[in-house]
Amino acid sequence: MNTEVDVLCVGAHPDDVEVGIGGLVHKLVRAGHNVGILDLTRGEMGTRGSIEERAAEAQDAARILGVTVRENVGLPDGAITNTHEAQGLVIPYLRRFRPKVLIAPHEPDRHPDHSAAHRLIADANYFSGLAKLESEGAPYRCPRVYFYRVYGESVQPQMLFDITQEFPVKLRALQAFRSQFFNPQYEGAPTYVASEAFWESIRSRAAYWGSRAGVEFAEPLYAIEPVILAVPPGLEGVV
Ligand SMILES: [Zn+2]
Repeated sequence: MNTEVDVLCVGAHPDDVEVGIGGLVHKLVRAGHNVGILDLTRGEMGTRGSIEERAAEAQDAARILGVTVRENVGLPDGAITNTHEAQGLVIPYLRRFRPKVLIAPHEPDRHPDHSAAHRLIADANYFSGLAKLESEGAPYRCPRVYFYRVYGESVQPQMLFDITQEFPVKLRALQAFRSQFFNPQYEGAPTYVASEAFWESIRSRAAYWGSRAGVEFAEPLYAIEPVILAVPPGLEGVV
């Protein structure tokens, strides 16, 4: 399959993208963009849910968000490392998807996999652009890389996106992960992520960021490099 996407969103685990930027993903899809999700691991270390359940849940969530493609690198859950070997496994995906915008987890994060995914994707994207680096696919380095936070530390972001319209779809995509989040119908060991308190925090985080921007719900995105724009925001489309 040779699928190029406009935007590639990377998660350490299936559901990271939905937690961090599920609203933004659906917003971009609604705007007509071709969006892909790349999960680095199958989440096999999770307390609840089997690999098969989580794979099916991830595909259901992808359909709800409307993404074009969702694939899994199959790195070990709980043991993501930024090694040349792991970079070598990720680079063929970057060279095949050739995203115009790449979005990955930020660091620091209390889950070491999220921090490791941040460094792995940043470095793999750099090396992917080297002509002499032998791997599947033609060399490609995504020029625009942004980051999201899975656990939502209240660090000042560089960008906020109004997801008021998309918020119900974000919740439905999260509910597709039947084994993972608050779901009285699912019999599994209790975890914080599966608690009602965590489910409430999804709404309160989106409402907090929304309150910072004068909208009901928003999601933040982080940039490390300065973001170059044609005109100051607010003047797009204004002659
Ligand atoms: Zn995660």
